[in-house]
Amino acid sequence: MTNLRILALAGLLLLGALARAGSDGRQDWGIHDMNRPVPPVVDPGPAGPPAPAPSDAVVLFDGKDLAQWEDMKGNPAGWKISDGFMEVVAKTGSIRTRKGFGDCQLHVEWATPAVVSGEGQGRGNSGVFLMDSYEVQVMDSYNNRTYADGQAAAIYGQFPPLVNACRPPGEWQSYDIVFRAPRFGPDGSLLKPARMTVHHNGFLVHDNAELTGPTAHKARPPYKAHPDKLPLSLQDHGNPTRYRNIWLREL
Ligand code: MG
Repeated sequence: MTNLRILALAGLLLLGALARAGSDGRQDWGIHDMNRPVPPVVDPGPAGPPAPAPSDAVVLFDGKDLAQWEDMKGNPAGWKISDGFMEVVAKTGSIRTRKGFGDCQLHVEWATPAVVSGEGQGRGNSGVFLMDSYEVQVMDSYNNRTYADGQAAAIYGQFPPLVNACRPPGEWQSYDIVFRAPRFGPDGSLLKPARMTVHHNGFLVHDNAELTGPTAHKARPPYKAHPDKLPLSLQDHGNPTRYRNIWLREL
């Protein structure tokens, strides 16, 4: 090959890479790619007191009982209540709200175990699933390397957070999520994808991100039509992660 041809080929490859970069460059990594850059670490400072629920919020958990929740088979939720929080009890399964929700503003506080155990995806893993389908990852990402699209505050398997705003294990952290449910036509076709804006401990970590479909492990499945309202669920990933002060406002 002549030098000119090599140069032309290199140019074409570069153009191809630029074309793949997309509008925000965030969707062009393979799922769970360990080479995907991890977001910069920021310091959120210590946790404040629990944020009070707005007057028109649906309070889903006020620290007292699991009346608003059930397991994934519709039986009473098996998680532990203690001292104003609920805690995942491994193998009792994920839990979901009895009621369904669509577009919403959601506030959730969580804490991973103070005693660190496991590494990567095995450390403090849980998750907040909007419509039981779209996960904002919960895990201990304080000095705990994993794939960028699976660390705390990632939209699992799709988008790493813009920054890593994790507090140390055992400390309370918050998510404030604005969720727009996907819209489907009468024939089940996708009219509008789901969108999420997320703050982690006050830091913007997703700015109106457009989801590629439901979140999944090692897969990016396409959208599949579902009802306008579905339960919010919290994941049992085998780690005793805690939650408190969960409320949402329907939009
Ligand atoms: Mg998870």
